[in-house]
Amino acid sequence: MPTPPIIPFLSAIGASDAANEAWLTALRAAMPAREIFPFAQLNLASRKAAQYAIATNPDPAEVAQLPNLRWLHSVWAGIDGLLRGMPQPPFTLVRLIDPQLSQTMAESVLSWVLFLHREIPIFQAQQRLSHWLPRAAVNFRDRRVGVLGLGELGQAAACALVALGFDVLGYARTPKRIAGVRCFHGAEGLTRMLRESEIVVCLLPATGETKNLLDASALAQLPQGACLINFARAAILDDQALKAALDCGQIAHAVLDVFSQEPLPTESWHWQHPKVSVLPHCAAPTDRRTAAAIVAQRIARFDASGEIPAGINLGLGY
Ligand code: NAP
Repeated sequence: MPTPPIIPFLSAIGASDAANEAWLTALRAAMPAREIFPFAQLNLASRKAAQYAIATNPDPAEVAQLPNLRWLHSVWAGIDGLLRGMPQPPFTLVRLIDPQLSQTMAESVLSWVLFLHREIPIFQAQQRLSHWLPRAAVNFRDRRVGVLGLGELGQAAACALVALGFDVLGYARTPKRIAGVRCFHGAEGLTRMLRESEIVVCLLPATGETKNLLDASALAQLPQGACLINFARAAILDDQALKAALDCGQIAHAVLDVFSQEPLPTESWHWQHPKVSVLPHCAAPTDRRTAAAIVAQRIARFDASGEIPAGINLGLGY
């Protein structure tokens, strides 16, 4: 049997050596029979031989030096960063779909929906003022939670919310049937869903169509005092419209995990705003061990059968 070619690992621009080393360790553990090396350590022959590669947020100039690449596996679920550098790649772009990631995201969504559902920001504000003001509890079944995006992550989150007993609404590009979730699609569907949602969780991909989907007019459609969780991408939410909606009370609280500039600059308004909870892009971190195992399975299948995993739809951008 000929030795299979070395697998190129294309690391993120600006990623630390420790992060790259951790990825290489996880990938090598998942594929002990294979050689996996960072791009810089590959000679010309290895670069030419590569039909597939594994990437974090790769430098497009390095990708361009793999002339026979047929597919590139990203280790992230979101592909928007990669597409910015390579809008029309001439190979299949595969993203991470990992049940562990969906589970982690569902846990984050549950945690922060409960935080908002039980009005913890209000109790925190009252404590700062030494105000002793009990509040009535709302039953799960009486709390309407809208999930924007019903893909791998949105569906897991919606189902977890249904399992707790919340009144769950969901929104996707195409019609969906999910037990216990009132599903909407299309522009009219978005309006109907927003009008009812007291807590909105954004799990849409960042695409041309979703850019600023949550603008001033969308935020105005929410019931007054609604809360917002953005665990998707900053580009989907109009930042200035959010600030205005928070300042006038249209939005009572926002939990934000994603920002147009990350790390969030210290001078950013979000840090000090009393109605904002800032998270450092960690709602659902990729689990290197489970991700590496999934990449390894896909590579083994390709080696055995030539089957390229399903890629993202470049026309749709997700
Ligand atoms: P996915 O499986 O591709 O699902 C995307 C969902 O959004 C689908 O339901 C899709 O509708 C819907 N959608 C796309 N464009 C739309 C539009 N224009 N209008 C309405 N709905 C639209 O993606 P995923 O794996 O669930 O991931 C979602 C996003 O989460 C990623 O893109 C990434 O940005 C983000 N993410 C964040 C973190 C974090 O830690 N904060 C971690 C991982 C991922 P259809 O079902 O009809 O196609």
